[in-house]
Amino acid sequence: NHMEGRVTDIGPRHYWQFFPPVIQNNYGKWAYHEILEPGVLVHVSETGDKAFTVRCGGMRFMTVEFLRELCDIADRFADGYVRFTTRNNIEFIVDSLEKVEALKAELAKHTFAIGGSLKFPVGGTGAGVTNIVHTQGFIHCHTAAVDASSMVKALMDGLFEHFTSMDLPAQVRVSMACCLNMCGAVHCSDIALLGYHRKPPAIDHEVLHKICEIPLAIASCPTAAISPGKTEDGLKTVKIKVERCMFCGNCYTMCPALPLADGQGDCVVMMAGGKVSNRISPPTFSKVIIPYLPNNHPRFPEVVEATKQVLNAYAADARKYERIGDWAARIGWEKFFEKCNLPFTEHLIDDYRLAYDTYRTSTQFKY
Ligand code: SF4
Ligand code: SF4
Repeated sequence: NHMEGRVTDIGPRHYWQFFPPVIQNNYGKWAYHEILEPGVLVHVSETGDKAFTVRCGGMRFMTVEFLRELCDIADRFADGYVRFTTRNNIEFIVDSLEKVEALKAELAKHTFAIGGSLKFPVGGTGAGVTNIVHTQGFIHCHTAAVDASSMVKALMDGLFEHFTSMDLPAQVRVSMACCLNMCGAVHCSDIALLGYHRKPPAIDHEVLHKICEIPLAIASCPTAAISPGKTEDGLKTVKIKVERCMFCGNCYTMCPALPLADGQGDCVVMMAGGKVSNRISPPTFSKVIIPYLPNNHPRFPEVVEATKQVLNAYAADARKYERIGDWAARIGWEKFFEKCNLPFTEHLIDDYRLAYDTYRTSTQFKY
């Protein structure tokens, strides 16, 4: 019994009790799995048992009403079990194909009152666009250069057909982070959108000396751009060496008198070609492919258009099983820019000393 020896009731309950019986009974005995159709997987056990997974798109922020509706579906059609993946997908696991069909029919009945779109669209598996992982955005975080939820909603509206089908050469993992602190996996995604500040923090001298620990603000800067200073009136404050600042917002986390959000300066950066999987080729970091897209809330038309542009070029040209980075590496990054109809500029060359895989490390790069 996996509960044995558990001596504390502090913290989350043991995961074992949340497993559906078919998972508990076949733990460690899975022989293989297949994707039966977009959003439906089957795992087959050595014992002959089968676990069917129905995956639906979910969102990062869910209301209590939405969760109640979800739990009600799980109670009635999935023996009370539901789980969330790290990409915010909702997954039901059932033990027969009949239950899969009944569940799918029920899910198709749930639509949003406004707009009528599906609340629980089934998909997100295999050679398609996965659910988009994103960060908190303005709703929860102070360093955001761009809102996350609204961009991801606009993006997914544009890419939705690739979520419910598997019509691409391979999986395309799209991620979005609203600042370069990047709690959103943009460093290793096929297509990644990053909110980016382009101006150093403004210094509110009047407030700073009242609410900030000056040594802490200085220590928080990874590039040592901040040093102690004094205003003309003799108030203790800080100075920022602008040419050293990389607009990361770390100082703002420590000192609210150093805000760096700026309507004009903030923008969206697009990266591509990263992945964490070691299938076919090793994991790779994403590279910057578009240094600036306007921060056009709430529907971000330029971001959606540019994402489609890259996705369409990839869909038309890549071989089966090739991720975006594999495709770019095979045809050469020069050709990648050509085929995606994107300009290459010197701003895209990464000079970071420990980056082993940048445009600059390739003598073959001809721009
Ligand atoms: Fe905050 Fe940056 Fe994370 Fe967005 S990516 S939630 S702004 S730390
Ligand atoms: Fe330093 Fe980052 Fe603040 Fe710039 S934004 S001063 S790099 S901590």
